[in-house]
Amino acid sequence: MKPRNRMKIILILLFISFNSYSQNTKGYFDISKDEFYYEKMSSWKEKVYDDYDCEFKTTMDNDSILIFSAKNFIFKEEYQLTLNEQKKIKKIEVFFTVHNGKLENWFPIKYPIKIGNFYKNIGTPSITKENVSYSRIYNDKNSEFTFKKYYKWNNALYRETKIELEVGQGIAKLPIRNKRGKIKKHRTVNFGYFAQTPKGKGSVTADDINFNVASKVSDGVTKTWNKNTNEIKSLLDSEFFETSNSIVGGKLFPYLFFIENTNDPKEYFTKFFFIANSIYNIEFGDEIFEKNQKYTYTTLPDGILAKAIGMDKDCCIEILIDLENWNKSTYLDKIFIMFHEFGHDIFGLEHSDGIRLMTTNKLELENPSIFGEMFHEMMLEILKKQQK
Ligand SMILES: [Zn+2]
Repeated sequence: MKPRNRMKIILILLFISFNSYSQNTKGYFDISKDEFYYEKMSSWKEKVYDDYDCEFKTTMDNDSILIFSAKNFIFKEEYQLTLNEQKKIKKIEVFFTVHNGKLENWFPIKYPIKIGNFYKNIGTPSITKENVSYSRIYNDKNSEFTFKKYYKWNNALYRETKIELEVGQGIAKLPIRNKRGKIKKHRTVNFGYFAQTPKGKGSVTADDINFNVASKVSDGVTKTWNKNTNEIKSLLDSEFFETSNSIVGGKLFPYLFFIENTNDPKEYFTKFFFIANSIYNIEFGDEIFEKNQKYTYTTLPDGILAKAIGMDKDCCIEILIDLENWNKSTYLDKIFIMFHEFGHDIFGLEHSDGIRLMTTNKLELENPSIFGEMFHEMMLEILKKQQK
């Protein structure tokens, strides 16, 4: 396939997914400020800060903003809630300052310091910035906040609501006042920042959750792709490589792992074929025609999930899927099952071939990005086999 045709197909494919996935915007969390405040305060007082000798304070409460904090001699955690007219929360912001030493030394797990965890849980950020200043309008106009690092995810989840998530870490200059309230000087402290802004109202759809998984899978592919660039370059011609490289690194890449109708095996094939053929330049036979594909939901013995019985036929894909197990499977399991069976059926791969995605019959992964890595390895192996 020529690179230009590939771009055309990817645009069509992505455009379809993108449209059906996008939703209307503007929203709030389905929890009132009082409920949220009560929930947070009781967990602070009874659990989180029970032993920290904290002073709890509600510093400001007007119609549209509520600020409350927990503070002791080491740190201060402060919540700022932006409210709508019904006193529902439109935005949650958290400022965490440490008066002494580094943020990550005191709270290595609790605070949004380990940005890697966010990559792991949500995927690649939509926006990253460095050295951005942030002005807090409602509290202490004399403080200065600068993000050394700032990350934003356009599609994350919180309280089953679709949100924009912002995470930052930086330096705050806080005023020190004398007894008469006059600013004597400023002191510099480390701070962490965390903001959640709901995008759509109501609950998230299964598509939202599946898309989050798809985005983690694509992260895993991108990561290993970037690691193996030299090897891939040696297997693809340079024009082909450049186009693939821009797709794999692109923002729309997660959509290639997003299956809309999760019970339609043909859609798994479409995505599998597209990625394998258009990105990795893997060749297919007559299996690409719909008339040569047969998928049957049935009952298989001994807990078998699926079986590729078309393995020995060059023309055809024939896969049996155990309906009961299929219905119990997660989104990631289903992609794994189908891609694993395609490996058998289309490319004749065996469990003993040493390809991680093929050696296992059941996927037990805590992070979908590992599946992405396994998928990439499988693609490379097939490509190398074909070029021999
Ligand atoms: Zn198998």
